[in-house]
Amino acid sequence: MRWSDYFIPTMKETPQDAEIISHQLMLRAGLIRKLSSGLYSYLPLGLRSLKKVEQIIREEMNRAGALEVLMPAMQPRELWERSGRYEKMVDVMFNLKDKNKRDMVLGPTHEEVITEIAGRDIHSYRQLPINFYQIQTKFRDEIRPRFGLMRAREFIMKDAYSFDVSWEAADGSYQAMYDAYERIFKRCGLTVMAVEADSGAIGGSQSHEFMVLAEAGEDGIVICEESGYAANLERAEARIPPRNDPADSMAAEEVETPGMGTIKAVSKFLEQDPERFIKTLIYLADGQAVAVLLPGDRDVNEVKLAKVLACTKLEMAGAEKVEEVTGAPPGFAGPVGLSIDVVADLRLKDIQGAITGANVRDRHLRHVHLERDATVKSFADFCLVRSGDPCPRSGHAMIEKRGVEVGHVFKLGSVYSEALNATFVDEAGDQHPMVMGCYGIGVGRTMQAAIEQCHDKDGIRWPISIAPFHVEIVTLDTTDEACMEVVNNLFSGLEAKGVEVIIDDREERPGFKFKDADLVGIPLRVTIGNKGLAKGQIELKVRGGDTVFVPLDEALSTVAAKVSELQEAIGVEC
Ligand code: ATP
Ligand code: MG
Repeated sequence: MRWSDYFIPTMKETPQDAEIISHQLMLRAGLIRKLSSGLYSYLPLGLRSLKKVEQIIREEMNRAGALEVLMPAMQPRELWERSGRYEKMVDVMFNLKDKNKRDMVLGPTHEEVITEIAGRDIHSYRQLPINFYQIQTKFRDEIRPRFGLMRAREFIMKDAYSFDVSWEAADGSYQAMYDAYERIFKRCGLTVMAVEADSGAIGGSQSHEFMVLAEAGEDGIVICEESGYAANLERAEARIPPRNDPADSMAAEEVETPGMGTIKAVSKFLEQDPERFIKTLIYLADGQAVAVLLPGDRDVNEVKLAKVLACTKLEMAGAEKVEEVTGAPPGFAGPVGLSIDVVADLRLKDIQGAITGANVRDRHLRHVHLERDATVKSFADFCLVRSGDPCPRSGHAMIEKRGVEVGHVFKLGSVYSEALNATFVDEAGDQHPMVMGCYGIGVGRTMQAAIEQCHDKDGIRWPISIAPFHVEIVTLDTTDEACMEVVNNLFSGLEAKGVEVIIDDREERPGFKFKDADLVGIPLRVTIGNKGLAKGQIELKVRGGDTVFVPLDEALSTVAAKVSELQEAIGVEC
């Protein structure tokens, strides 16, 4: 392929609306272009990489015995109502009507469609286990589309769905996908970490997310280097040491805290550590007001809290509602004397000598003994875990990292098969719902995460397995026939060996072409010009490495060997 015949619209300037480096580089290297918020076109170079990621995924899914299918993006809304998930996912659903005014949606995922297929055509245990996958376009009206392909509104996902006769059998399917994911990401040249994850709106019992560690990642993760425990912050747990507050038998008393509606202000004023405060937040759980208590220095984990409260919709109450249920403006709420349900984080069990809002404007209470002075309906763990918290397994201090979720494996159980009546008959003739698992990989997100992980100040440093081309030949004397003959010979020789080559044959200054080569980040660069040829040599450079001179008659074998070497360095046999 010749650059002059191709379409690689590189940009010198950093695009204004691209916040993270991988997004900037994808635009600058001419891989993608934005159409509208969360909607992107893949240009030729970007599409080549995307297809390579897809191919690796496809090979590993096939190797694991999954069967490729392709399901429609457009689905009847009624199917989603039957599974009970329309309401849960309504915020991200794209809705439309067909010409008969029938409600349709654009699929954000495909559990419903595949379960309908399984329910219709699988009847016997003899047909199980089975695992279907597809590589297909998904639509999600994300609240905050951003970071290019990382959080798009239309994106390509690999989604797989396994069906088994029992939970034990489903464990096997889950493990097979988990192992396939490890191979996939490794083959893409990525360093990933599998972390325990929340199952979210999809439901189910167990799940792991595959995270690419990166500062720009939207997900918080905690890890324990001692035990290997790793979890998404949404799900993370920590050991909760018992309190050892000094005994305080004094009765609760009101103190004036004029205009001090924050823990920071009151803590300074009363010279007390924020940890000694009982923070009281008023939430609406499916519309019902509830007081949520946690230590003054901690934040709430709304994912865990929603589970504790067993609600589908959880939101903070507005100022008016807070005033209505506590009798005071926000900032002065406390559990003492409240008539709504009160739930407290386990870290507050046995707290005494605490400070909390008095449910009166400009007043706080001190010497509060929570279980003596208030009615707590239940204690549970709903704090956001943070750096330094003790690991639930080893007790060692955990550290916090950021990551990009590139893949997700779920053990679903029979939520969907029961709702959509996907059953099979066992050996004894009894009917059971199939036990399911589902497994997703963001294809575009994976490609972009590779750039987030592999780049330097000059541009992308593609892992060779997903690079758009393996080799770029930069010609220094494009109009010179002898020079171009050498270039063309090397090109044909490499192509014959299956090496993918692009020739930068543009009539531009060498410096300009080298800059573009670094930006686009093809793993190997070969420079050929008359000056070198006069000495019988060409230049070979690994992206980001040193230049070596190679005798012309060894050029083909040396470059081909280097390509193989880089491929082998990926470390997974294909
Ligand atoms: P997130 O928490 O990032 O929104 P999710 O939990 O909603 O992800 P899943 O429903 O598990 O994601 O989807 C499977 C995979 O699809 C994810 O692991 C991710 O790689 C990818 N993905 C999800 N949403 C998007 C999006 N808006 N843009 C690009 N890729 C996405
Ligand atoms: Mg999501």
